[in-house]
Amino acid sequence: MESHEDIARILLRYRAFLIATHVLPDGDAIGSTLGLGFGLQKTGRRVVLSCPGGLPDSLSFLPGSNRIVTPDRISGEFDAAVILDSSDLDRIEGIASRIPSGVPVINVDHHVTNKMFGTYNYVDPGAAAVGEQVYRILTAMRVPVDRDMATCLFTAVGTDSGFFRFSNTSPTTLRIAARLVEKGAEPFRISEQVYETKTLGSLKLLGRVLDTLQTDEAGKVAWVEVRREWLSEFGVDEGQTEGFVNYPRMVKGVEVALLFRESAEGKIRVGMRSRGDFDVSALAEAFNGGGHSRAAGCSVEATSLEDARQAVLRKVYEMMAAAR
Ligand code: AMP
Ligand code: MN
Ligand code: MN
Repeated sequence: MESHEDIARILLRYRAFLIATHVLPDGDAIGSTLGLGFGLQKTGRRVVLSCPGGLPDSLSFLPGSNRIVTPDRISGEFDAAVILDSSDLDRIEGIASRIPSGVPVINVDHHVTNKMFGTYNYVDPGAAAVGEQVYRILTAMRVPVDRDMATCLFTAVGTDSGFFRFSNTSPTTLRIAARLVEKGAEPFRISEQVYETKTLGSLKLLGRVLDTLQTDEAGKVAWVEVRREWLSEFGVDEGQTEGFVNYPRMVKGVEVALLFRESAEGKIRVGMRSRGDFDVSALAEAFNGGGHSRAAGCSVEATSLEDARQAVLRKVYEMMAAAR
């Protein structure tokens, strides 16, 4: 395992980078990609930034967001690849096959379930966001953080910590956030863009999804469902369901919250949150997914939402029984 200082030294050996992050990217994925991209550019390096499927509207306010291309548009040579916020290579989908063998892969991530797939791995589950790790790397490289970089990295740290409400928020998270504000990040503007600017359709969809909210008999597990046809009905893409899983998590007494979403044919994406000791990263891993102990996800091969729900609930109860 490499430290942030090791990664800083390693990065300085190369001239051109591919920086890539996970599908259905969140603020940490995009903020970290842009923050590191700008930082490496300041040292005279060339960068290509990519994410499968492109990025959601809610993050298009970030400076440089239009630089992030889909895998089919990756062009030019690069002599190293940096993969951010991804616990395994499946998370970057078609990008993985665009990395020639022999090009070193630098894995920077904070998921406990990380598969250590890199040539070099800097994996820190204690970091609230990859944005924290990128900040440390850039500091070790002595790259000055400008306003645009600060905005991107603050978005990374702010969103993955739920704007400093989640259990992953540490003194370090807050110190780094404070530094980024000193460098020009504006928390009120960022939170307004990310949390308080929704399309009418996505709010209407939320109404429909909240109608599906249910708990089990014991009131310990709650879930919501998103049917595929609703996305087209409300003119909403998958990325705009980000955050919906927080509603089942709010139900008093609930320990495990789940969101089931019909994705591509025969695939159900499951978002998972925990409010207690239940480790949802282990639950997600049982279905080849990954995440953190209190926020995780996976894709389940199932023919219906009902089948996926039954399979996941069965595993939840099995794990709850084993923990007793
Ligand atoms: P989400 O519910 O999409 O906000 O994801 C919660 C956490 O689980 C994030 O840290 C994701 O990176 C991780 N995660 C979500 N889906 C998957 C998946 N299919 N495989 C691995 N990790 C995932
Ligand atoms: Mn992420
Ligand atoms: Mn993250």
